Amino acid sequence: MPSTTHPDAFHFDRTVESYWEASADPLNLDLAPLTGDARCDVAIIGAGYTGLSTALTLREDYGLDVRVLDAAMPGWGASGRNGGFACIGSHKLGYGSMIARYGRDETIRFFSTMREAVDRVRDNCRRYGIEASLTEGGEVSLAHRPNRMAELAAEKSFMQATFGETMELLDANALRERGLWSPHFHGGLACAVGASIHPLNYARGLARAAQGLGAHTHPFSRVRSWSKHAKKYVLTTENARLEADHVVIATNGYTSESIFHHHRDRLMPALSNIIVTRPLTEDERAEQGWTSRVMAYDTRNLLHYFRLLPDGRFLFGGRGGTDASDGGAEPMKAHMIATLKRMFPVFGRAEIDYFWRGFVCLSRDLVPYVGALDDHRSVWTSIAYHGNGVAMASYCGRALAHLIAGKPERANLPAVVTRRLAPFPAASLRPLYLKGAYLWFGAKDEWL
Ligand SMILES: Cc1cc2nc3c(=O)[nH]c(=O)nc-3n(C[C@H](O)[C@H](O)[C@H](O)COP(=O)(O)OP(=O)(O)OC[C@H]3O[C@@H](n4cnc5c(N)ncnc54)[C@H](O)[C@@H]3O)c2cc1C
Repeated sequence: MPSTTHPDAFHFDRTVESYWEASADPLNLDLAPLTGDARCDVAIIGAGYTGLSTALTLREDYGLDVRVLDAAMPGWGASGRNGGFACIGSHKLGYGSMIARYGRDETIRFFSTMREAVDRVRDNCRRYGIEASLTEGGEVSLAHRPNRMAELAAEKSFMQATFGETMELLDANALRERGLWSPHFHGGLACAVGASIHPLNYARGLARAAQGLGAHTHPFSRVRSWSKHAKKYVLTTENARLEADHVVIATNGYTSESIFHHHRDRLMPALSNIIVTRPLTEDERAEQGWTSRVMAYDTRNLLHYFRLLPDGRFLFGGRGGTDASDGGAEPMKAHMIATLKRMFPVFGRAEIDYFWRGFVCLSRDLVPYVGALDDHRSVWTSIAYHGNGVAMASYCGRALAHLIAGKPERANLPAVVTRRLAPFPAASLRPLYLKGAYLWFGAKDEWL
């Protein structure tokens, strides 16, 4: 495991002190850790959007016997602590490189998949009656330097020509008119795809739906080891032994490579950080010039993402930081507050009520992977959404269930997400790669 994933970040018994935890509806499920000996068709490790979506579909469409084990409560990982942006963008590979590597048609299919994934979130909320404060409105990318406007204009043309996606270029005046104003931005590009949600309510809703359909979910059941006997897998937790025909590793940025050896050297967990202000008054929002509920992010490589929450608070997030220990939290919080003050001077005067962090997950190919990890097609994963998994994990978790059930045509996955995970070269140096990338992109974001 790279040292950036400090053990402090894996205290599964600690509640995440997030705004989502403070404002979520109760789980209202009587869940118990797994004890004794048990067996099932499919054992799923991780009760985030991926694992729960897989469980739901395996039960609903195929009636398989499914058990979901989580080291903590459902939604404890990134699924319960993200920004709640259900949108496109689960890759760090540029579209040009994607076309060169996978071809134009598969790249177009990948884009359609990401679009459909957003619909999947809407559909899940509707179908399972999940109250996740889903708010429509799309998202806007904001130019943090004047020269980024030319890039946004080129992106608009590319998106129209390649994917048929119509986007709207906004100058600084248009930003002001739409209540998206900050002296920091020079214009933006609006995309109609995307909706915001309360991420923990969504995760809890999926957990309730899965349990309602007969998938057994076991919190505080950390898988500590596993082995294969004949054709069966045996997963061991502190108090239980679970035998299964198939195993799904749905642990994303919280994957322990010492236990899940198929993933060894293949993942790059990275921190994402969020602060949330106290509720802002209407006057404060008007003074800042930011009154829109649209989801927004800036054009930095180390991007910031932000939105007004339904109760008037401002959520402000950003990637970065390589010290996941408890000691690394305060400096990161101070950095986030200083950045908020610079970008949104009025909001930056408000008290910060919440700060938390969590892991996103990158792959060497800079795209997600969905599929088998072994040649027998009995160990599976869906992983590496590059910090953009609200929609994609909901979609890919479901697709994974179709693969497990032997129905790849129903999974309908583009080639972009089905090439096996490649190892990072000199993988023990991953923390250094990350630090180097942050330095390089940080400088590029500010000076080029
Ligand atoms: C701060 C932050 C902000 C983000 N913002 C956004 C956003 O706005 N929009 C967006 O699309 N994406 C965002 N993301 C990314 C998104 O949240 C993730 O891509 C998505 O939640 C991944 O879901 P998952 O189910 O694959 O993994 P997770 O939700 O991380 O779940 C993994 C689970 O595995 C469990 N686990 C780990 N090891 C074991 C074990 N040995 N045994 C049993 N269980 C285990 C963990 O307890 C955890 O619950 C953000 C992420 C973070 C951290």
